[in-house]
Amino acid sequence: MTNMAKGSALAREDKLGLSQSASLVREALKEIQESFGAAFGGLKHCTLYPLDDVPPTVRSLWQSCTTSLPTLYNSSQCWTVRTPLARELVIDALIKIRSKQIQSASEEDFRLNYQGEVNESIDPTIVLAQLVDPDPCCPAFLTGLRSPSVESCGFRCPYDLCTVVEPEEECNIQVNMTPKFSFVDLHIDYGADGLSTLVGDCRKIWLLYPPSEANLRAMKMVDSQRAKLMRIMHQLEGGVIVPTTASHAIYIPAGCIHATFTLQGGFLVAKDFTSSESLTAIASYLLHKLDQTLPSEARSVCYDWFERCLDVCLSSGKLDTALEAWILSQDHLAAWAASHRQWRINVRRLWEQHLHNKIFSDCPCGMQERTTVLSHHVFATHLNFLLPPSQLRRLK
Ligand SMILES: [Zn+2]
Repeated sequence: MTNMAKGSALAREDKLGLSQSASLVREALKEIQESFGAAFGGLKHCTLYPLDDVPPTVRSLWQSCTTSLPTLYNSSQCWTVRTPLARELVIDALIKIRSKQIQSASEEDFRLNYQGEVNESIDPTIVLAQLVDPDPCCPAFLTGLRSPSVESCGFRCPYDLCTVVEPEEECNIQVNMTPKFSFVDLHIDYGADGLSTLVGDCRKIWLLYPPSEANLRAMKMVDSQRAKLMRIMHQLEGGVIVPTTASHAIYIPAGCIHATFTLQGGFLVAKDFTSSESLTAIASYLLHKLDQTLPSEARSVCYDWFERCLDVCLSSGKLDTALEAWILSQDHLAAWAASHRQWRINVRRLWEQHLHNKIFSDCPCGMQERTTVLSHHVFATHLNFLLPPSQLRRLK
C-alpha cells in the first residue's frame, strides 16, 4: 500500500471509530430520554464520552483529582464461589422486609427511596411489585440491603483492578433493589472507592464525573437540592457514560460524582474500599464542604474513610501525598477533631507512627524553616490541634 493509500485507510477507520462511539452515546441518551422523560433531553448537548474513547485531556483531568478514570471488568472475576441468582436476592429481600415489619428499625437497615428521597412511611413490598410491574410515575427502590446469598457467593474486587489501584479495607457489601425507572441522582460515595455489579436481567446507564474543582463547586451549589443532574448537567466537565449489565463490574474512583438510570429492573451489588491514591479526592470532598449537609452518621463515615485512607497512604510510604491532602483540608480536619476525641487520637497515633525525626525531606507547604526537621515542623504547624497541651508545650 502506498503511504497515501495507508493515510486514507487510517482516516476512514478513524471516522468509523468516532462515529461508533458517538452512536453508543446517542443510543444511551435516547434510551434515557424515552424512559425518564424529556427533562433529561439536555444531556445530548453535554459532552459525554464512552469509556473506551476518552480523549487524553479528559483522562488527565480524572487522574489529576482522583485515582483514575472509572474502569470496567468482567463481573465473573468478582464472584469467588459463583454468581448469585436474582431469585435468591428476592428471597433475601423478602426476609429483610418481613423482619423490619416485626422489629423496629436498626442502623443496619435498608432504606426506601421514593421520588428522590428516603421515605420511611411507604410499604417496601411495593418495590418488589415494581420489579415485576414497573411504575414510571412513582418509581421506588431499596438501598442498603444486606444479603446472605451475596455474602456466601464471595463478592470481591477483581484481580485486574490492582493494575489501577490496590484495593484496601474492602467492606460494606450492600444490595440495592432497583425496578425499571429507578433514578439515583448525582452523589459522591462519602470519599470511598467503590465496586458495583448487577445481578439478573438488570441494565443501568451510569453518568460519572471527576471530582475536579469546577465539578465539586457545581455540586456544592445544588447541595441539599433535588434534581441535581438536571440543574448542573451543563456545568460538569469530563463526564463519561457507561451502560452496564450483569456481565460488567464497574470501578468507581474515590470522590467520583455519579448518577444511575435503571433501564431494566434488578439488583445492584456494591462494596466500598479505599487505596493509597485516594486521599487527595477525599480531602477535596471535605474542602468543598460536601459532607457538611449530611446527617451526622453519614458525616462520620466520611471522616472514617479519611482516617482509613490516611493509614493506607502512610503505611505504603506515600508521606508527601498524605501531607499534601492533610494540609489541603487542614481547617476542616481541625474542626472535626475538636469535637471527635477518638478520631483525634486515632489520627494522631497514625502520624506518630509514621512521622519520625529521621525524615529529612521538606514539607510541601513551603513554610518549613531550614533549621527544623520535618516531623517537628509538621507536628507544630499542621498537627497541633491533635496534640494534648503538654505535648504542645514541648514542641515550642
Ligand atoms: Zn508544612
